[in-house]
Amino acid sequence: MKYVYPFGGKQTEGSGSMKELLGGKGANLAEMARLGIPVPPGFTISTEVCGYHAEHDGRYPAELAAEVELGLKGLEQITGKRFGDAGDPLLVSVRSGAAVSMPGMMDTILNLGLTDASVVGLAAKTGDERFAYDSYRRLIQMYGDVVLGLGPASEGEPDPFEHILEQVKSEVGAEKDTDLSSEALRTIVSRYQDAVKQATGRPFPQDPEEQLWGAIEAVFRSWNNPRAITYRRLNAITGLLGTAVNVQAMAFGNMGEGCGTGVAFTRDPATGENAFYGEYLMNAQGEDVVAGIRTPQPIDALKDEMPRIYDELLAIRDKLEAHYLDMQDLEFTIENEKLYMLQTRTAKRTAFSWLRSQVEMVAEGLIDAPEAVRRVPADEFSKLFAPILDQEDIRSRGLEPVASGLNASPGGACGRVVFSAEEAESWADRGEKVILVRIETSPEDIGGMSVAQGIVTARGGMTSHAAVVARGMGCPCVAGVGSLGIDIASKRLSIGETTLKQGDTIAIDGFTGAVYAAEIRVKPSEIVQVLSGEMSADDSLLYRQYAEFMEWVDKARTLGIRTNADTPQDVETAIRFGAEGIGLTRTEHMFFEGDRIVAVREMILSEDEEGRRAALAKLLPIQRDDFVGIFRALAGRPGTIRLLDPPLHEFLPHDAEGQQEVAASLGVPPERIREKVNALHEFNPMLGHRGCRLAITYPEISEMQVRAIMEAAASVHKEGVAVHPEIMIPLVGHVREFTAQRVLAERIAAAVLAENGLSRDEIPYLVGTMIEVPRAAVTADEIAREADFFSFGTNDLTQMGCGFSRDDAGRFLREYVAKGIYERDPFQVLDQQGVGKLVDMACRLGREVKPKLKLGICGEHGGEPSSVEFCHRTGLDYVSCSPYRVPVARLAAAQAATRTP
Ligand code: PEP
Ligand code: MG
Repeated sequence: MKYVYPFGGKQTEGSGSMKELLGGKGANLAEMARLGIPVPPGFTISTEVCGYHAEHDGRYPAELAAEVELGLKGLEQITGKRFGDAGDPLLVSVRSGAAVSMPGMMDTILNLGLTDASVVGLAAKTGDERFAYDSYRRLIQMYGDVVLGLGPASEGEPDPFEHILEQVKSEVGAEKDTDLSSEALRTIVSRYQDAVKQATGRPFPQDPEEQLWGAIEAVFRSWNNPRAITYRRLNAITGLLGTAVNVQAMAFGNMGEGCGTGVAFTRDPATGENAFYGEYLMNAQGEDVVAGIRTPQPIDALKDEMPRIYDELLAIRDKLEAHYLDMQDLEFTIENEKLYMLQTRTAKRTAFSWLRSQVEMVAEGLIDAPEAVRRVPADEFSKLFAPILDQEDIRSRGLEPVASGLNASPGGACGRVVFSAEEAESWADRGEKVILVRIETSPEDIGGMSVAQGIVTARGGMTSHAAVVARGMGCPCVAGVGSLGIDIASKRLSIGETTLKQGDTIAIDGFTGAVYAAEIRVKPSEIVQVLSGEMSADDSLLYRQYAEFMEWVDKARTLGIRTNADTPQDVETAIRFGAEGIGLTRTEHMFFEGDRIVAVREMILSEDEEGRRAALAKLLPIQRDDFVGIFRALAGRPGTIRLLDPPLHEFLPHDAEGQQEVAASLGVPPERIREKVNALHEFNPMLGHRGCRLAITYPEISEMQVRAIMEAAASVHKEGVAVHPEIMIPLVGHVREFTAQRVLAERIAAAVLAENGLSRDEIPYLVGTMIEVPRAAVTADEIAREADFFSFGTNDLTQMGCGFSRDDAGRFLREYVAKGIYERDPFQVLDQQGVGKLVDMACRLGREVKPKLKLGICGEHGGEPSSVEFCHRTGLDYVSCSPYRVPVARLAAAQAATRTP
């Protein structure tokens, strides 16, 4: 069995297509080496070893030791140095790298191979004692932290190594790390070694082999550290073998003048503009840029500082984009004016950057339109519609930013300042909108970052942890606000004259990097503004590129896209986003508006049918007007309208005060209301008297609703607008429930048509059902004989299929997901193996008896990409989702069609 794959030098065994086995980093290092791009030589230990190691109590495959030995020999040959040599030592880095990138989540150790003996050799060979001891102290620090577990005891505790470093700095009067003399660094090394000995009872290992294996072990272990596990859960990364380990000859960016290190993107990761983008630090080691500890220089400055290197980087940029045909994210190191590439990978980027980079790559002829459609991540797509700060609000109030930083992740956000991830989470739990303000963020902050409206950091660049993670989450972020002073202890921040405390409101603009000490209105995105006519398309490149992209999307998809909408405004919004009809109007929402709730309550309180009919007669014209508005907005598109669904107690107040008010408005004693509420009480209302069960008991409610629908249809038809009503019966479990409602609907519809002198051809209405009770799915053939269409109510179907209460399961489902019992929350992502089988069965049974039976979905899953793909594969005619999800569903449907034509 082969576990080790060399790259660089004369022999490269891996390639870019071997990501599963070599991880992204290892595969791409091999690929770059094959392309003739300079990479320091090294070898990759495959991800299979990580799996083996985890399953065998930390043991390795028997062959591994010999293969690593051979890999190391190869490195010694290429570099002409020996590992552990006292004269001119080979030093290596050990880095993690899984098939899917998990920035900052796993561990890295640099400068392995330095010992008390070889550090002397390194100093002599480079003529730079300071550099040699600085490298050694970094090794002990990283090794101590990662391998020996000597980091800070908990968040907020001092790091023991940082503590020593600060101590020596103050003893010798050094302000910055770079002010430390080689003498001082030697002191630090010796105190670090004492600290290691004291904490572990053993000296810092002087055998380079022991160091190497310690580091390899730590990287494999880090695959299962809590933050890596959280990251995989948040990003739904599953099914990987583990991480690979890359052992690579060190290239030093911190060997003094003529050395440096940086990261770059072949295009702008925030906007997607086709401009070389990046930043670097002179005389620094790679982690310094990514960790956000020093704020780096923009890459353009390298043009003046090292023009030859800059040109070489530009050439590599072009070569890599032409080879990978997508935007890349690069890491490089300059050692004594020689450039080395340490990494390339497909760039993480914002939804804005995805759209712009792909549309422009099509225009540049790098890729074709279907490829662009395949690539843009559908679940990111809704972020294009994310809000922005209202510039009019800013102008009219004469607001000025109090500070500015880097525009690290786009979008506008306003919220209350909190200074720690824990506070962010607890405030957000209380329903507060928060902006997380940190000196810099670290992987431990991920929970707080995921609930914040926006993130601000005082330090760090465009590729700092905060920037990368915020972009990934679609959370607005302003990074590296140099003028920001943060005092964590007193929970205050200062920017120039302004002081703010925890809980004060700030607003940030992730497009420009501006920070305001004010509450600012947040407004719809440019796309939304153009769609609603508030902005001209000529003024918005974003909109024009969106529109072009969506043409490609619509060409690719076969699945129809409808919307769940209850008002004419929602219908209009959804149509602008591309909806082709309504998949669900929940009529109960209309019952709460204005005065109508009074009539609804009158109906509920009536003792007999006559009283109910009198109350329903008041509702009829109001409900008819609702439907007129909706049919007009639909302008000829089909509209599925569902008859009343919720249990009646939802329309009555449960608190004494509310009951008093209702009693007063209806002129009845409060006891009547209380008695009615008690009478309607159910232990499990979700399984109680709701849906068509209400209509079976009180057919007059359905009669009123069907009449309102058909009268509205007749009236809009007479205005010259085509109408396609689809009357939908909820919560059917038995075909006879459906048949009873169908007979009723047909009777009323026929009457209304006759009253208006219209034929069924003129208003081609349908009567169909929701499939949301498992029994309906199982008997779908019987129901299909009677119904014109099925619409899957996967919210209830999940509730009843999995036996999870929609109202209560939230309390434990998170834990279910964290423990991997369900991979995703089944109310968000359709449980294809379980609930999906019910859907599939109902489709097959239904179409066996009625091959053209119209099939759709209107549960929340209709706007979730993997569920949309399932609907495509299962042969549904359309999915229906909320208006803002419509573009996401269009894209997901197009991608499903390219995967399963
Ligand atoms: C459903 O159950 O999936 C559905 C769309 O209906 P509601 O959410 O209104 O119960
Ligand atoms: Mg339902």
